[in-house]
Amino acid sequence: MTQELTHWIDGARAAGTSGRFAEVFNPATGETRSRVPLASAAELNGAVARAAEAQPAWGATNPQRRARVMMKFGALINEHMDELAELVSMEHGKTIPDSKGDVQRGLEVVEVCMGAPTMLKGDFTDNGGPGIDLHSMRQPLGVVAGITPFNFPAMIPLWKMAPALACGNAMILKPSERCPSTSLRLAELLKESGLPDGVLQVVNGDKEAVDAILDNETVAAVGFVGSTPIAQYIYGRAASNGKRAQCFGGAKNHMIVMPDADMDKAADALVGAGYGAAGERCMAISVAVPVGEETADALRERLIPRIEKLKVGPYTSGDDVDYGPVITAAAKKRITDLIASGVEQGADLAVDGRGFQLQGYENGFFLGPSFFDKVTPDMEIYREEIFGPVLSQVRAGSYEEALKLTMDNPYGNGTAIYTADGDTARDFAHRVNVGMVGINFPIPVPLSYFTFGGWKKSAFGDLNQYGPDAFRFYTRTKTVTSRWFSGIKEGGEFNFKAMD
Ligand code: NAD
Repeated sequence: MTQELTHWIDGARAAGTSGRFAEVFNPATGETRSRVPLASAAELNGAVARAAEAQPAWGATNPQRRARVMMKFGALINEHMDELAELVSMEHGKTIPDSKGDVQRGLEVVEVCMGAPTMLKGDFTDNGGPGIDLHSMRQPLGVVAGITPFNFPAMIPLWKMAPALACGNAMILKPSERCPSTSLRLAELLKESGLPDGVLQVVNGDKEAVDAILDNETVAAVGFVGSTPIAQYIYGRAASNGKRAQCFGGAKNHMIVMPDADMDKAADALVGAGYGAAGERCMAISVAVPVGEETADALRERLIPRIEKLKVGPYTSGDDVDYGPVITAAAKKRITDLIASGVEQGADLAVDGRGFQLQGYENGFFLGPSFFDKVTPDMEIYREEIFGPVLSQVRAGSYEEALKLTMDNPYGNGTAIYTADGDTARDFAHRVNVGMVGINFPIPVPLSYFTFGGWKKSAFGDLNQYGPDAFRFYTRTKTVTSRWFSGIKEGGEFNFKAMD
């Protein structure tokens, strides 16, 4: 029988009452694993109201106590690493090592939040005027919301909830309806860590729940991660309703390969960054840009055998598998349609993954790896974020042409350059209009004490995710100017002697 999932309300699992559900698949078999309730606006508003009741006491808890909850939470995540990774793989389909990376990258943000007291310290100026002192403090916003995508079911909910909670907010988390189970389990672990009931509410749902978040007057801020059209929509509606919003969107990440690069290392990096997690990463490299025909030929010659060797299969096959299925049948169809458009528009499909079949998993959402050479910027496969195991090679005549291609692209999440020349690498890092840059490093996701965020159509709003920016996003600053009169003579003149 299909398992029925729940929400997480007031410290316990709570059945949905809207009567609407979405199917959650096992992407490896195509079978329905469970049904997730889709909250109505009334359910969402009820969850917000309860969070608003719980928040003042949590916000008034001293930061060190809140940090201790993070310490316990971090320890529990470590303890439950295998279980959490399995939950991710079951609904998402990625391999177990990949799912452990997903949990680990979230855990690292929890670790930074253990230092929240330091990050939340205010500033002080003594004697800013006669008898006048100023101090600033960071206060929580109240109830905030996180809306997250399917592709990192542990990492991105953790990027949202850990800083929001460590700053003293209550949070409504609306995970992807395609991979909801990990967030529910993380909520249980947070309760076990000492988080008071009601401070974290996991509300499953779709557009109805999201729109209710955006229109709820109590929700002070919205942190979104997902595709660009939805990011832009959420940013607009949240901002026009007076909310603080940061909305991270899609990507089309380019990797430039200079003629002086180590070609084997560049090819290895492209295969890992292009096809890992079936290309369903916002930091995946989807466009290789070799500079010069010779470089392009040398890269192609190395890429094809590596791509053809990739092993595709279910996560249950163990470490032998490089990547798993894509998320849904609809995603698979969209990707195969895009591949067909690439062929139609004249790109050279050097490796075609469309016919891939796996015995025993014929109904799974698997796709073999595809590789296009001689792609041009006007083609649909270049313009669209494919979000699948497809790498495109665009040949550039010069470094300047490769840089311009990267800069003209509407997305600006991540990019990389492979070169042996420090001047070129430095020039690239300085001039490129992309938020995260790798030098001989294909997926430059910054460590958790830096911050993560793209430019252009990859992010709307201010401040990045995690690191110092997260503490700014989830708090507001209050500045107090105070004057005490003991040092001031009658008539307002300051008596410096009184300070001796
Ligand atoms: P998505 O935009 O379809 O969904 C993201 C969230 O928005 C989900 O919770 C979903 O329920 C909700 N949503 C979907 N349609 C909606 C609508 N019409 N109105 C209101 N809410 C809606 O994204 P996805 O397919 O889950 O995730 C993949 C996308 O996320 C890719 O584009 C990827 O590049 C992007 N992504 C970006 C980052 C980043 O940090 N920039 C990180 C991970 C993923």
